[in-house]
Amino acid sequence: MTSKLLILPGDGIGPEIVAEAMKVLNVFVQEGSFSMETEYAPIGGAGYDAEGQPYPESTRRLANASDAILLGAVGGPQYDKLDRPLRPERGLLALRADLGLYANLRPAMLYEELASASSLKPELVANLDIMIVRELTGDIYFGQPRGIETLASGERRGFNTMVYTESEIERIGRTAFDIAMKRNKKLCSVDKANVLEATELWREVMIRVGKDYPEVELSHMYVDNAAMQLVRAPKQFDVVVTGNIFGDILSDAAAMLTGSIGMLPSASLNESRVGMYEPIHGSAPDIAGKRIANPLATILSVAMMLRYSLNQAVLADRIEKAVKTVLTQGYRTGDIYTEGMNKVGTAAMGDAVVAALRA
Ligand code: NAD
Repeated sequence: MTSKLLILPGDGIGPEIVAEAMKVLNVFVQEGSFSMETEYAPIGGAGYDAEGQPYPESTRRLANASDAILLGAVGGPQYDKLDRPLRPERGLLALRADLGLYANLRPAMLYEELASASSLKPELVANLDIMIVRELTGDIYFGQPRGIETLASGERRGFNTMVYTESEIERIGRTAFDIAMKRNKKLCSVDKANVLEATELWREVMIRVGKDYPEVELSHMYVDNAAMQLVRAPKQFDVVVTGNIFGDILSDAAAMLTGSIGMLPSASLNESRVGMYEPIHGSAPDIAGKRIANPLATILSVAMMLRYSLNQAVLADRIEKAVKTVLTQGYRTGDIYTEGMNKVGTAAMGDAVVAALRA
């Protein structure tokens, strides 16, 4: 089967790192283990430059016809003064909403070779491998009513609404249980059920969904404790499922445990398992064009794409193994460089992964 891929290089270092990820996919195409049709389209600042919109109509049409989307990054200082609806990040939000990408998968992995980059003691984080599953289209970010009003006293009052329906919780719950089944069959659901009714319902539905997955060991943790446990003993976690706002915060904290923003991929999936795959970092305008950006987060995003949207777990495993191999061989871009290692640029790192795949 030929996979239809949409490639959105975006802004800043986006085109540089996406080029390396495509080298990796082309290895599989050349050896005959993968078949793809690719389209390229602008998004973010590049969309604004090309067509006056961060999510151009032509990009939207291609996105809706794809099996999976690979994105570099969007944003840059030259776009910061645009009206809000025209800013690069709006392109990403529009794409997420358009495709109904409700499940955000954020792995926090730390290869043993990079354990010294973490701010935690190496023994606490070496070989860390957590998957945070964050609900992405509900919760207090979207709940109504919301706003800022002026009270009779003249004082202003800001308010938002935390809201989840049973079907929204069940949908993200099933996604998380399915992922747990493919990993170590351990799932921790994070809520604040002792204080917030919306998350009391969350816990109730998670327990109900769990009955369909008797092999998965389901545990529950309050979000404040989860934040503490993440920095105290992060390796106790395997798959974590949580709502939009808690997931926003916990997934960034988990990412920083690894100390290497240039290494972490992410996925956002919809109900048909069409997904958008992107590194968690931004467009790094400070190093754009210098050919020194780390392409490994984008290469690992391709591995996630193969695993979660394209049903090619074997190829995904091969990429992840190849990344480990190049780290063991001592290849390092500047962001993960330590004394005595082999410092390389973006293209040389991509080439090293290609060589490891072919070895
Ligand atoms: P950033 O992630 O772009 O950069 C933070 C720091 O990490 C910088 O010093 C950068 O050089 C470094 N860095 C990031 N990725 C790297 C890589 N692959 N290799 C080596 N070093 C890397 O965050 P920022 O500086 O806060 O934001 C820059 C722009 O990116 C802004 O316009 C922001 O809105 C945008 N942004 C986009 C996304 C996205 O596309 N999903 C995410 C976050 C930020």
